[in-house]
Amino acid sequence: MNFFNLHTHSVTQSDNQIALVNQYPQEFDATIPTYSIGIHPWYVNVDRVASDLACIEEKIQEQNCLAVGECGLDKRADTIFELQQEVFEKQLLLAQKYGKPVILHCVAAFQEIIETKERLKITVPLIFHGFSKSAQLAKQLIDSGCYLSFGKYLLKNPDLESVFQSVPSNRFFLETDTMEETIEAVYEIAAKYSGVSVEEIKIVIRDNCKAVFKIDLSN
Ligand SMILES: [Zn+2]
Repeated sequence: MNFFNLHTHSVTQSDNQIALVNQYPQEFDATIPTYSIGIHPWYVNVDRVASDLACIEEKIQEQNCLAVGECGLDKRADTIFELQQEVFEKQLLLAQKYGKPVILHCVAAFQEIIETKERLKITVPLIFHGFSKSAQLAKQLIDSGCYLSFGKYLLKNPDLESVFQSVPSNRFFLETDTMEETIEAVYEIAAKYSGVSVEEIKIVIRDNCKAVFKIDLSN
């Protein structure tokens, strides 16, 4: 069974994984087999927002586009927060309209994202990528219906072991994002922390992919 990489910026892939490659509207690459597409809060350009959103709306209707994102809110970014919020909401509404999940970039704005989800009545799955916070915050996000994806911090921060163990198996994904390490290495540490085999983690992720992305990793 294939590994599934929820979020990566690397277009060169090994043939034993299905990867959700992050794409930006202004540099769309049609050769990438499976991707997400979105406007990152770091790169909001007011002159381009309308055309970027039009591009997202076009691509989101294609089968290879599995999700909107990464998009979200970042309190430490240079982009004005109100502008981030406006662009984020438009992307959430597109995802909701076409029934696609959303991959979230979130820095110090978890409560704002939950508030936005509730206010706009967003029911498509929202996945916080690169999760590195507390078990308490993880529980709050899961209780509000969201998913968490782990990668770099799971490998590098031992404190994440107990956080990861607190997350129900039907609510997590694994990813490499921009790091050098492979998705296999992330699966291995997830298996170790869960006290199961890599094969069992593959089954968990296969089921989560089916539930969230409607794709089948079995073959
Ligand atoms: Zn990323």
